[in-house]
Amino acid sequence: MNLSERDIQHNWHPYTQHKTAAPHIAITKGEGALLWDENGKEYIDAIASWWVNPYGHSNKFIADAIYKQLTTLEHVLFGGFTHEPAVLVAEKLTQLLPSNQKKLFYSDNGSTAVEIAIKVALQYFYNKGERRTKIIAFENAFHGDTFAAMAASGISFFTEAFKGSLLEVVRIPVPSKGNELASYEALETLLKTNEFAGFIFEPLVQGAAGMVMYDASELDKLIALCKKHNVFTIADEVMTGFGKTGKTFACDYLSEQPDMMCLSKALTGGTIPMAITTFTQELFDGFYDQDVNKALFHGHTFTANPTGCAAALASMELLTTEVMQQNIQRIHENHLRFENKIKNHSRVATTRVLGVIFALEIKTDGAQSYYGSFRNRLYNFFIDKGIILRPVGNIVYVLPPYVITDAQLEKIYQTIEEALIEC
Ligand SMILES: *Cc1c(COP(=O)(O)O)cnc(C)c1O
Repeated sequence: MNLSERDIQHNWHPYTQHKTAAPHIAITKGEGALLWDENGKEYIDAIASWWVNPYGHSNKFIADAIYKQLTTLEHVLFGGFTHEPAVLVAEKLTQLLPSNQKKLFYSDNGSTAVEIAIKVALQYFYNKGERRTKIIAFENAFHGDTFAAMAASGISFFTEAFKGSLLEVVRIPVPSKGNELASYEALETLLKTNEFAGFIFEPLVQGAAGMVMYDASELDKLIALCKKHNVFTIADEVMTGFGKTGKTFACDYLSEQPDMMCLSKALTGGTIPMAITTFTQELFDGFYDQDVNKALFHGHTFTANPTGCAAALASMELLTTEVMQQNIQRIHENHLRFENKIKNHSRVATTRVLGVIFALEIKTDGAQSYYGSFRNRLYNFFIDKGIILRPVGNIVYVLPPYVITDAQLEKIYQTIEEALIEC
C-alpha cells in the first residue's frame, strides 16, 4: 500500500465526505511554492496551504530558529511562568499592530483566537454587571469551527447541524458595493438595543466566502458606530494578517482602530500551529481586579509555546525584510496585469485584487454550491495540471506564498485561462 492508501485506514480528513472523496494526495516534500507527492508529481501551492505559508515550504530560516529553540527550551507552561520568545513576540508584534493594541493572549489556531475574543467581549460586560450576551457578525462570515467561532460564521454549510445550540449572533449585510447603507442601518438598529457585546468581522476580505471584498472607508463607519455605542469591535485577521492585503494588516487601511484582533495562519510562516488575540488596555483593565472571579479563566495547555513563538519571531523578521515586501508588491502587480487581461473574457463575471489576493468569479448557469459539482470539476482540473487551487463554488482565487516566482504565477494564470475554456 502507498501512503494514500494507508492514510484512509484510520485518518479522518477535514471538510471531507469520505464516501465520495477522491484518494488524498500524499505530499512528501515542499520547497518554496512547490510541493511533491509520493509519485514525484510536482504541484504549485497557489493557496499557500490554506493561507498559512508566505515564506515558502521548508523555509530554512524559520526551521533553524525552531531547531535552536527546541534544543534550548521546547516548552514550559505559561501559567506562572514566562520565557524570552513570548516576551520578544509581544515586543515585536505590538510594534507592527495598530497602536491601540497593547495586550496579547496566545492560543493554538484561528478558531481559538476568535473564541477568546468573543469570551472577552462577553465577560467584560459581565464583570461590570451589565447584561450583554449577543454578538454581531457579517453575512457569509467565516471565523472558524469551534462553537463560538462557528456561531459567528455565516456560511450555513458549516453550521447547519448545530442550529439551536449556538451563541446568539445577529447578522448584518457586508458593505460591498450597493449595500453600504443597508449594512450601516442594520448595525445601527442592533446597537441601539444595548444587547450586544461585540461586532466581529473579517476586515476588507471575507476569505472563506470566496474573497468577497469591501472598502476600508465603509468599515471605518461601522467601527465608529460601534465605538459610539460602546460595543467592542473584533477584527478577525486570521486570513488577512501578515501582508496578504499588501499592508501588514488589513486594519492598516483603516482610520479607526479595532478593539481586538485575531491572528493565526501566517503568524508562524505555516510551521507551528499558534494564534494570538490582541487587546486594548481598556479590555485588559476590565479583568484587572482584586476579585479573582473577574480574571479571564481561559487557557490552553500549549499557550505561548516557546517553539511556536520562535517560529513567529523568525516569520515576522522575514515579513519585514525588503525582499519580502518587494515580493508582495511584485505578486500584486502580476495579479493586476492578469486581471486586466482576463476581466472581459466571456466567461468571467467579476474579478478583484487586493495585495497578493486575486479572485475571479466564473459565469455559470444558476447558483453554485460551496462544494458543488462545478467546483469539483475545477478543483480536479487544476490538480491534474499540478496546481493546488480550492475554488469556492464558481470563484477561483489565488493567494500564493510570497516567494512564488513569476514563472510559477504565469503558469497559474494560464491554467485558469484554460479552465475557462475546458470546465
Ligand atoms: C481560517 C480562519 C479561521 C479559523 O482558523 P483555524 O486555524 O482553521 O481554526 C478564523 N477566521 C478566519 C478569517 C479564517 O480565515
